[in-house]
This record gives sequence, structure tokens and C-alpha cells, in this order.
Amino acid sequence: MSRRLSERSIDHVVLERSEVANSWRTERWDSLRLLTPNWQCRLPGHSYQGDDPDGYMTMPEVVDFITGYAKHIAAPVRTGTTVTSVRRADDGYLVSTDNDEWECRTVVLATGAFNVPKVPAIADGVPEAIATLTPMTYRNPEALPEGGVMVVGASATGVQIAHEVQRSGRPVTLAVGEHVRGPRDYRGRDIHWWMDAAGVLDERYDEVDDIVRARRVPSMQLAGSPERANFDLNALTSTGVTLVGRLAGIRDGGAQFSGSLRNKCELADLKLNRLLDTLDEWATANGLDDVVPPPHRFQPTVVPEKSLLGLDLTSGVIKTIIWATGFRPDYSWLDVPVLDAKGLVRHDGGVVDSPGMYLIGAPFLRRRKSSFIDGACDDAQDLAVELAAFLDRPD
Ligand SMILES: Cc1cc2nc3c(=O)[nH]c(=O)nc-3n(C[C@H](O)[C@H](O)[C@H](O)COP(=O)(O)OP(=O)(O)OC[C@H]3O[C@@H](n4cnc5c(N)ncnc54)[C@H](O)[C@@H]3O)c2cc1C
Repeated sequence: MSRRLSERSIDHVVLERSEVANSWRTERWDSLRLLTPNWQCRLPGHSYQGDDPDGYMTMPEVVDFITGYAKHIAAPVRTGTTVTSVRRADDGYLVSTDNDEWECRTVVLATGAFNVPKVPAIADGVPEAIATLTPMTYRNPEALPEGGVMVVGASATGVQIAHEVQRSGRPVTLAVGEHVRGPRDYRGRDIHWWMDAAGVLDERYDEVDDIVRARRVPSMQLAGSPERANFDLNALTSTGVTLVGRLAGIRDGGAQFSGSLRNKCELADLKLNRLLDTLDEWATANGLDDVVPPPHRFQPTVVPEKSLLGLDLTSGVIKTIIWATGFRPDYSWLDVPVLDAKGLVRHDGGVVDSPGMYLIGAPFLRRRKSSFIDGACDDAQDLAVELAAFLDRPD
């Protein structure tokens, strides 16, 4: 956004509570790599220049990439500056920080969509002897007690953590609700290559049938491993992970799982096949059928004949629970009435329901790719146009 504002000579400042790329420095586990390929780290006027475009960055590499970009574009960042309040003022907004105050006609909310782990209320019922973590407090399997681990949630975060914890010798039980299955590679290319090329990631917020639902769709079960491995449920069960249904409740020390595991897996298989149909159609229409290997389908998800419906959490079998149940943004500092009942900012493609206020970085803000690093490029372009027009408007 800063780069897009500079291009229009719009005077601005970027306030950052910690250091540039703070979320990648402090809020991720040790082994994490981007699940988006290096070539897809495209920012306005800058892209990956290394010798491994099809690889996946480690966290230190992401930090270098974003820090380097901030320097490259000479972004006017004030680090170590926490915004404590944003209020309406006569001609715009009053922004208070722990250092100073700013008056401005426009504000862009770019504080990220994944600030706080979402932990369901049923977590209150977890017996005290069990250690509980979130993806933001989890660092590596070695820091966990020996013994069984229950990972709750099977999206990108849950499957990645389940995989490495199981490999560390701690048997994992994975509670699986609604999820999005995805292969790392399809017909010889990265699935992100396909979705990018076929325009799936560019699908617009005003083109989908149900944008509220589209914004809640979980992340695809992917990881960026050097081996280009799949991280779907079949890959996990082949390493010994036990699948159970969605964690529905915890009562008297007992975990209760939904009986819908098979349905959820069948639905995810169906949706994967639909996505692959779309990609195949696009390949044919664009003359790629002679260039890439022929279409194929993946083995349906193998689900236990009878999945466990309950588990005694007081038996000592489970020593740790990791809540991989998603993240939410934190707007506790925002004193402008623009939040809906779920605490999310009300906006139309990033134009917030308050004059001169904009939002960037939220899921499906304007496009399916909006919450990826790669999404910022086009969204910032569109929002800078809106913001500039607002500033040009006569009072
Ligand atoms: C586990 C995980 C894995 C991901 N993997 C990928 C991936 O592989 N590829 C991909 O493209 N995307 C990935 N994402 C999404 C990724 O978060 C976004 O692509 C990207 O970080 C969005 O950047 P952002 O600047 O909008 O938000 P953030 O990176 O969250 O940055 C927000 C910044 O605002 C600062 N801030 C917050 N509140 C305040 C305040 N009150 N005052 C001052 N500063 C404040 C924070 O310190 C932070 O530096 C992943 C997300 C998660 C959670």
C-alpha cells in the first residue's frame, strides 16, 4: 500500500508496533515455510529474484524478502510504534500511538487478518493436566511433553503441525471438520501455478455467489516442503495419524467428536475433483494438453470404518492439545463503529463503512488471493485509486 501511495505522491506514514515483517518473525513455528511458491511472492514493482522460483521460503527468508522490499521502496515506516486508538475527528481521523498522535484524512487498516488464534469456548473443559497450545505458541515438537497429541483443525496449519508432531514419535489424533483438500502438484505443475494461471485466485469478491461464506473458507491443506510432499489426510494417515471427526464438545473430561468425518472427507474429495475439472477445462481451452501430462484424479480420502466418537482426556493418553482452529484479526484499538457482530470490519472490497477508511490483507477482500502476499499487489492498486479519489474530492 505504501508503494502504491508513493507512486501517487500521497504523503503517508506506516506505523508498525514492532519491526517490519513482525508476524513472520514472531508468530510462526520453526519449521514453517510459505505454502505459496517463491515466484508467487510478487509485490508492487518487486518479485523474487533468487535461483529457486519453484521452492518455498523459510521464515528467515520471508523476513529478508519483506524487509528488503521496505528498504527498496523506502517505505516511511515508524517501527516500535503501537497504534492504541483510531477515532473520528473533524476532518478525518485521530490516530493515537504509544509515542505520539497523528491527524490524517485517510487511514488504511493493514494490521493483518491473523493476529489472534481462534480457540473455541469448549477449550474451557480441557483437564488441567493437559498442555494446550495454539499455532502462535507452538514452536516445534521437541518442546512438547512426550505422549499423545490432539491437533484440533485440519487446514494448512493443523495438517502441517500434525505431520511433524507425529514424526517426532508423539502419536497424533487429528480432529477434522470442514477442510479443503489440495495436492501440491497436479499434471507436473504446482497447484498454485494452476490456480494462478487459470484465474481461480483472481476471482473477484463481487463475482462469487456467497462472499460471506467465501471469506470463511478454510485454507487448503498444503505445505511448502522441499520434497513437494502432499499434506492431505491420506498422507497423514500413512504416517500413523489417527483421524477423528470435528471436536464437538468436552464434557467431564471426555472429548466428543462429530460422526461426520466421512461426509466431510467425501465433500472435500468432491470439491477437489471439481477444482481439477475446472483446471483441466482451462488447460484444454488454452492448448496445454500436449504440453503437460494428462489429467488424473487422486485416491479418495481413506476414512476409518468406524471413527472414534469419544476420547477420555483424563486417561493420560493425550498430553497436549494444539488448537489449529483458525485466526482472527484484532481491532481492539479501533474506536470507529465499523465492526460487525463477529468483530470483522464492514467493508465493500476494502472500502470501509467510514469515509476515508480502507482495509487491506483480509480474506477475499477483493479477490480470492487477497490474503496471500501475492494479493496485496492488485488490492493495493485498486485501493490507492479509491483513496486518491477520496482525497481529491472537494470538502
Ligand atoms: C500460519 C500462517 C501461514 C501463512 N502462510 C502464507 C503463505 O504461505 N503465503 C502467503 O502468501 N500468505 C500466507 N499467510 C498469510 C499471511 O499472513 C499474509 O499473506 C500476510 O502476512 C499479510 O500481510 P499483512 O501485512 O496484511 O499482515 P501481517 O503480516 O499480519 O502484518 C500486520 C502488521 O501489523 C502490525 N500491527 C498489528 N497491530 C498493530 C497496532 N495496533 N499498531 C501497530 N502495528 C500493528 C503487526 O505487528 C504486523 O507487523 C499465512 C498466514 C499464517 C497465519
